[in-house]
Amino acid sequence: MEKVALLECAVYEVDQIEKTLREGFELLGGDSFLRRLIPAGSSVLLKPNLLSVVEKGSTVITHFAVFEAVVRILGEYSGNISFGDSPGQEDTRVAAEKSGLMEVAKRYGVQFCDFNEAVHCKLESPLMYKYWNIARGPYEADVVITLPKLKTHAMMYYTGAVKNQFGCIPGSQKAQWHTKLPDSASFAKMLLDLNSVVKTNFAILDGIIAMEGNGPRNGTPKQMNTIIMGESLTAVDSTAVRLIGYKDVLAVPVLKAAQAANWGTVLPEEIEVLGRSIEEMKCRDFKLSRNAKVINFLTPGLTSLVSTMTAPDPVLVEEKCIGCRKCQEACPEKARVISFIRHNGKVIPKWNYSNCIRCFCCQELCPKGAIITRDKALSRLLGLN
Ligand code: SF4
Ligand code: SF4
Repeated sequence: MEKVALLECAVYEVDQIEKTLREGFELLGGDSFLRRLIPAGSSVLLKPNLLSVVEKGSTVITHFAVFEAVVRILGEYSGNISFGDSPGQEDTRVAAEKSGLMEVAKRYGVQFCDFNEAVHCKLESPLMYKYWNIARGPYEADVVITLPKLKTHAMMYYTGAVKNQFGCIPGSQKAQWHTKLPDSASFAKMLLDLNSVVKTNFAILDGIIAMEGNGPRNGTPKQMNTIIMGESLTAVDSTAVRLIGYKDVLAVPVLKAAQAANWGTVLPEEIEVLGRSIEEMKCRDFKLSRNAKVINFLTPGLTSLVSTMTAPDPVLVEEKCIGCRKCQEACPEKARVISFIRHNGKVIPKWNYSNCIRCFCCQELCPKGAIITRDKALSRLLGLN
């Protein structure tokens, strides 16, 4: 049985979070567990979610108090800790400073790692891709600990421990992956390979205040009082999606791909939840981004085609749009999909849906939350959403 620690913490108060995390490590095996996780002399790379430049304490990113509590504990096991990420479009250093993480890092002697410096590497026995361009920092660190935020995600339904490492792809190279892998099933496989390249060793999921609805950037904060920790990224994610309301964890593309490839532990019956129980911590009114049923047709090709045909459309909430064009900049397909028109005295985006690959980078990176997703009539008809 794979073990995860499910913990309750209601406030972003560093002493309280540190106490909670110590309880979690204790449940997983205490000091001997930590010594095995971080062998003496190891370098440790922390990978928080720094999706974009947002205010300190925003639910878009990993909270600085969680980061500080982690640093306090891991500092007892490694004298060489660094952290980094690569937001989609913005400068990582600015994101780290604004988030409050840089200030914590400076106080504890944690090094900032620029994920734009890439290394070309090879993955033996991949699910999809053998050759990779990834950030040097996580590739070369002895131990990688991911610090994701629990959020909804328009393309992947949910973002947590596995998805968080997409930030290890340097800057604008992320868009190329979206073009190459427009459907969520192959994108999920790529994320699993990426975690194999990076060798992510442990996850601490910040779900104290999660994000529901129009995530991962423009959703609504949701108090969940939850922290989940574990060595298996898929087990952490599987536990998280059960808490937010997925009855079948295989409805989430990353978990479906992992189970099919025998990558990590996915099924609830193979996961021992320590600490709090799922029943105690379940959030009964969490607003999911997508709630697709698992669809399986005769062939994987047909299954993938139906998934693509039933994926929702990105649509504009016109009154929120400021015409900044960031959606077009973020779109891997650029002007093939998003053009700008004048309407009611404003310049607003217009979608050519036949060229749209439904990666939802536009929805994710719109600074005003002016893009939402809308289910297609076909998916409603098939009862898939
Ligand atoms: S939809 Fe969002 S990103 Fe696009 S122009 Fe409007 S405000 Fe900017
Ligand atoms: S319009 Fe949005 S969802 Fe469509 S391809 Fe561009 S970024 Fe992706």
